[in-house]
Amino acid sequence: QRGTAQRVGRIKPSPSTAAAQRVRELKAQGRDILDLTVGEPDFDTPGHVKDAAIEAIRQGATKYTPVNGTPQLRSAIADRLRRRHGLDFPDDRIAVGGGGKQIIFLALMATLDAGDEVVIPAPYWVSYPDMVLANDGTPVVVPCPETDGFKLTPDRLASALTDRTRWVVLNSPGNPTGAVYTADELRALAGVLLDHPHVHVLTDEIYDEIFFGTGQVHSLAAVEPRLADRVFSTNGVSKTYAMTGWRIGYGAGNAELIRAINTLQSQISSCPSSISQAAATAALGGDQGFVHDSVAVYRSRRDAVVKLINDIPGLSCTPPDGGFYAFVNCTGVLGTRTPSGQEVRTDEDVAAHLLESQSVAVIHGAAYGSPGYFRISFATSNDVLTAACEAIARARAELS
Ligand code: PLP
Repeated sequence: QRGTAQRVGRIKPSPSTAAAQRVRELKAQGRDILDLTVGEPDFDTPGHVKDAAIEAIRQGATKYTPVNGTPQLRSAIADRLRRRHGLDFPDDRIAVGGGGKQIIFLALMATLDAGDEVVIPAPYWVSYPDMVLANDGTPVVVPCPETDGFKLTPDRLASALTDRTRWVVLNSPGNPTGAVYTADELRALAGVLLDHPHVHVLTDEIYDEIFFGTGQVHSLAAVEPRLADRVFSTNGVSKTYAMTGWRIGYGAGNAELIRAINTLQSQISSCPSSISQAAATAALGGDQGFVHDSVAVYRSRRDAVVKLINDIPGLSCTPPDGGFYAFVNCTGVLGTRTPSGQEVRTDEDVAAHLLESQSVAVIHGAAYGSPGYFRISFATSNDVLTAACEAIARARAELS
C-alpha cells in the first residue's frame, strides 16, 4: 500500500518549528522555560499597519487580488527597491506570496529538475536544503567556517559549482549567524559567478533592515548589475515590521522566472490574503520609525548577549552584524560531563543539557548544517535574555 509521495519522505519538519513546539509542550506541563528559540520579533505589529488592514476590511478589499499581488503592494515594493538599491523592477518582475518562505519554495519549484544542484553555504537557514529536496533538487552544502565570518568565499564558491548548478543561495544578514556580506565580498563572489552564466543566485534579504553596521546592507543585484538578470532577491515584511503572522513575502527577478512563479501561484493559492497585502503596503510605504526603533533595541540586546556569552568559559560568539540571532561556539565544552556523568559529545547534547538543567531552550547548530554551535535568538525581552544568559552560565558551571 502506498502512503505519501517520495518527496515528503525526503524532508523533515523545520527544526525551528519543532523546537517551538517542544517549548510549548514543556510550558503546558508547567515548566518555566527561558525560550531563546524564537524566530520572530517580540514586538507587536505597528498600529498604522493594523489600521490599514482594518480599513481594507471596511472598504471591502476582501476578495481575490491579482495572482501577483495588488498593484498598490507591487508599487510599494518597486519603490522600496528603487529607493534603497537604485534597482528598477517593473511590474512583471515582482512576485508576491504568502511569506518569503513561499516565494523561495515557488522559485525552486519553478526551476529545479531532478539532479539540479543548489549551492547552500552553511550555516544555513534550516529550510533551504529541505525545500531543494522537496523539489527534486540536490543540495550542495558548503561549510563556511567562523574564521571566514561564516561567509562564502570566492574559492569555496568556485569549487562548489558544476554543470548541474542551478542556484547559489546567499542569505545576508544570515540566519543563524547574523553574517552580512560587504559590497566588496559580494563583488568578489560576482567575479566567480560572471564566469558561470548558467548559475542563478537566490539572495534572501529578509533581515536586510536589521543591521548594526554603518550604511546599509548591500544587494548583489545592485552591486553587480551584470548579474541582475540572474539574481532573484527575496524579502518580506515578517521580520522588519513584526508581521510574521500576516504572511506576505516577495521576490524580484527576471520576467521568465516571475511568470513561472505566478503560474504556480495561480494553481496553489490564487493570491496572498487581500487584507495582509493592504497591511504590507502600509508597512512598506508608511512611516519607518518602528524599524529604526526596533533595530536600536536589537542592537543593545546584541551587545549585551555577546558580552554575557563571551564571559562564559568554553563558550564564545562572534558579534552578529545583523538579524536577531547569535551563533554560539560551544566546542569548548564538548567532552565534558554532566553532574550525572553523561558525556556532552555534541551541540545537541549541549542544547539538551541547557534545557534539562536550567530550562533554557536553544537550537543546536547541526540543524543549520554547523555542528559545534547553538543558536540563540535575541528577539525576546531583556529580562528573559539576561536570565537566560545567567542560566546558561550556571549550566556551564555544572559541566566538568
Ligand atoms: N528566510 C530566512 C533566512 C528566515 O529566517 C525566514 C524566517 O524565519 C524566512 C526566510 C521566511 O520568512 P517569512 O516566510 O515569514 O517571510
